[in-house]
Amino acid sequence: MSKTEHTPSNAPVKTYPCPRCGKPTVWADNPTKPFCSARCKLIDLGAWANEDYKVGAEDTPFSDELDAFK
Ligand SMILES: [Zn+2]
Repeated sequence: MSKTEHTPSNAPVKTYPCPRCGKPTVWADNPTKPFCSARCKLIDLGAWANEDYKVGAEDTPFSDELDAFK
């Protein structure tokens, strides 16, 4: 009787694409997750801030459409 235990001692590290640049990134032990690096994290935060600015500063086509529905 032989007991074959398959223990993956060399299991591949689970990676996923960085949401910012698509670079394979590890989740475990990653201080900047879900991003691959602090740079990507900052870029993403900056993009959000920019979009916030746009919404407030520029006139949105949606407000016109809403007026038309009145
Ligand atoms: Zn990245």
